[in-house]
This record gives sequence, C-alpha cells and structure tokens, in this order.
Amino acid sequence: MDNCLFCKIIAGEIPSSKVYEDDEILAFKDINPMAPVHILIIPKVHIDGADKLNENNTDVVSKIFAVAAKLAEEFKLENGFRIVTNVGCDGGQTVRHLHFHLLGGKKLNTELC
Ligand code: AMP
Ligand code: ZN
Repeated sequence: MDNCLFCKIIAGEIPSSKVYEDDEILAFKDINPMAPVHILIIPKVHIDGADKLNENNTDVVSKIFAVAAKLAEEFKLENGFRIVTNVGCDGGQTVRHLHFHLLGGKKLNTELC
C-alpha cells in the first residue's frame, strides 16, 4: 500500500534489521527497542490493524504466533515474553499496518495500561 512504512520495509525500499522472513511474514528489530529483545512481526499483506481482521484474513495471525514462538526460542526468551498489538489512536498504534511486538529479555512491567 502506498505510503505505508511497513509495506516499504517489505518491498525493501526502507532498510530493516530482518530476523525472519517467509512468503507471508516478515520480522525485524524495532528501531526504538523497549526491551533487550524487541521484534516486530508483520504480515506481508497490508492489513491496517487488528480492527480489520475477519474470517478471510486471520490465517496469517496464527502463523505470526508460530513465528513468535520460534523467535522466542532463537532469542533465548526461556523466562517468558510478551506479544502486543496496538490498535488505533487510543491503542497507541503509530504505524497503520498490522504488527505484533515481541518483547522480552528482561522482567517486563506488568501494567497493561
Ligand atoms: P506501534 O506504535 O504499535 O504502531 O508500533 C510501531 C513501532 O514501529 C514502534 O515501536 C516504532 O519504534 C517502530 N518503527 C518505526 N519505524 C521503524 C523502522 N523504520 N524500523 C523498525 N521499527 C520501526
Ligand atoms: Zn502496509
């Protein structure tokens, strides 16, 4: 999608620090890490956010969670981790392309909001 930062990263127009890629999914390090491990996992197909998921496009979400588990093992997050997706303005979503934050490598703050 035009003017979408993450679509540009997928297209290789903007560089990223990739940690996983397949036909449907890309994962790369967050440019502004909030934890020792902070990876963004995104579908290659443009979906605005979790508010735009439906029965026709959720298959990729289960695949993203499988990639998250694989990355958690690779990055040695054996003590646990967190997966977060922000939605819309109130949810703090700054990039309107569905993405899941994989956070770990320290004891994370337990406050949800
Ligand atoms: P959110 O605020 O949930 O929409 O998350 C967007 C995330 O994208 C933030 O954590 C940003 O630090 C991250 N981000 C923005 N631009 C880039 C970039 N060029 N490469 C990697 N991460 C980025
Ligand atoms: Zn996009």
